[in-house]
Amino acid sequence: MQELPRSLSFRMPAEATPLGFRQRPAKVLLEVDGLMRRFPGEGAAAVERVSFSMGEGELLALLGPSGCGKTTTLRMIGGFEPPDAGRIILRGRDITRLPPEKRGIGFVFQDYALFPHLDVLDNVKFGLRGMRRAEADDRARAMLRLVGLESLAARNPHELSGGQQQRVALARTLAVAPPLVLLDEPFSNLDAAMRVETRQEVRALLKEAGSAAILVTHDQEEALALADRIAVMEAGRVVQIGTPDEIYRNPVSAFVASFIGRSNIFEGTADGMDADTPFGRLPLSRAANGEVSLAVRPEQILLEPDPEGTAAVVGREYRGHDQLYWVQEGERCLLVISGPGAQIDVGARVRLRICDCVTPVN
Ligand code: ADP
Ligand code: MG
Repeated sequence: MQELPRSLSFRMPAEATPLGFRQRPAKVLLEVDGLMRRFPGEGAAAVERVSFSMGEGELLALLGPSGCGKTTTLRMIGGFEPPDAGRIILRGRDITRLPPEKRGIGFVFQDYALFPHLDVLDNVKFGLRGMRRAEADDRARAMLRLVGLESLAARNPHELSGGQQQRVALARTLAVAPPLVLLDEPFSNLDAAMRVETRQEVRALLKEAGSAAILVTHDQEEALALADRIAVMEAGRVVQIGTPDEIYRNPVSAFVASFIGRSNIFEGTADGMDADTPFGRLPLSRAANGEVSLAVRPEQILLEPDPEGTAAVVGREYRGHDQLYWVQEGERCLLVISGPGAQIDVGARVRLRICDCVTPVN
């Protein structure tokens, strides 16, 4: 097994590592084709014809609300749940019917599942049982160095923080250099500050190890921050797959527009690349025709104080770096985010201006 690079700093943004992984990887690692799962006695399928492919070393987030089928999809890929239909191809090999231990896929479970009676080093060595002892020792220590925990090798899991346990679990998984790691809500046991720090560390570690990963999360911020691409799931289906930027800028439906970030939805009449809307004629981010629902991000709306304005500020939330305003215009209430500058009081009359193209979402 190749020597792993020693990590210099875990606070380093993952982008600084030399793999250039923002680029779409050329080589296909995993193909999931038409995966289906209906649980006995349940009406709707939990997973409905899910298909996607992933490149070597790529980080894919499976994102969606609770109950949309993320875990079931992951469990089928891992071999813990039999699909009713569909195929799973890893590096060109059909693994659909293989048991989990024959797939060569790594897992990190939500509760880390460390062995409480083994110290940190032995936990990491667990997957290396086939290896000579000295070699396994070296490998496990190299992995602990990689996750920044070499000095804690002799501790037991209960003597570690949640974030440290998470890193041990990851070191144990990455020790066997799996081409693919599956992570199901891996940060949900951590507090908010730890979550932000740990997710960047985990991203950097996966990139350094060169392992691809599928991360299941219901947290859109986590998916946007961590993933190379996001597959958005709704009611058992993948409804959109793309880079965080593609999905944020060009959501395919009102559901995606509102689940990834926040969106205001309003009606308009489109003809090609423009639409007539209650806010005047606006450019569209993609062509549409006829009656359409349109999505606009809160930060794409400008608020101008105007005593003659037809809209009024009905709520405000100060957030330091920016401010949220709820603005009522007729029947419609819009969410607007503006910079930290001049504040507009609740009750003030304003004019709304949309300063960007809007996205047709139906
Ligand atoms: P998610 O991880 O997105 O929250 P799951 O994949 O866990 O969603 O669940 C998808 C749907 O399948 C849900 O409606 C859930 O109740 C159902 N489900 C999951 N596991 C089982 C099971 N073992 N038996 C019956 N229904 C299940
Ligand atoms: Mg789940």
